[in-house]
Amino acid sequence: MARVTGASCRQCRREGEKLFLKGPRCTSSSCAFMRREYAPGQHGQARRRKASGYATQLREKQKAKRIYGVLEKQFRNYFVRAEKDKGATGEVLLQLLERRLDNVIFRACFTFSRPSARQLVGHGFVRVNGRRVDIPSYTVKTGDEITVTGTDAQLKSIRENAKLAEDRGTPEWIEASGEKLVVKVVRLPKKSDIGMVIEENLIVELYSK
Ligand code: SF4
Repeated sequence: MARVTGASCRQCRREGEKLFLKGPRCTSSSCAFMRREYAPGQHGQARRRKASGYATQLREKQKAKRIYGVLEKQFRNYFVRAEKDKGATGEVLLQLLERRLDNVIFRACFTFSRPSARQLVGHGFVRVNGRRVDIPSYTVKTGDEITVTGTDAQLKSIRENAKLAEDRGTPEWIEASGEKLVVKVVRLPKKSDIGMVIEENLIVELYSK
């Protein structure tokens, strides 16, 4: 299962904003972006020239990929699926990303970050409508019920994390119980449910060239 590797904090610094890839550290004073708010590398502190239209579109696509931990080929596949849909391509693209099973676990506040949600799914702790699903990219649909399973000790530790992460709040398109470790998908997500600013029209323009 291919996944995004490399230093998470460098990705935030490259995109010029916090992408919240590391859990509690992201909201603490140890956040690397707060300490070094410039791009990584030798020329990171050099004065930036005004970005071209292409560069702006490219950065927006990279940002979306990094937030959801998706590689290029898979991201393009999402775009192709979105293009085939009757809805607005950009919004459907964001919706497909948001409907990923690992994202649902993260948005339900069961983990501190999307990478740890991905690990939870990949290790077989998650069931969708009673069936074990270990594919982080699995696309949930309205009415799905997602549960977390494991030994008592494992569930206790996940519940403790969920308790600490619950301040983040859950979006309206899901109903989650951190105590029971159950999430219900009540409707499909809208752009306003995403919780991060992603200018999807720039991504559509980039792929439409
Ligand atoms: Fe990004 Fe989190 Fe690292 Fe801060 S701590 S730079 S938000 S991954």
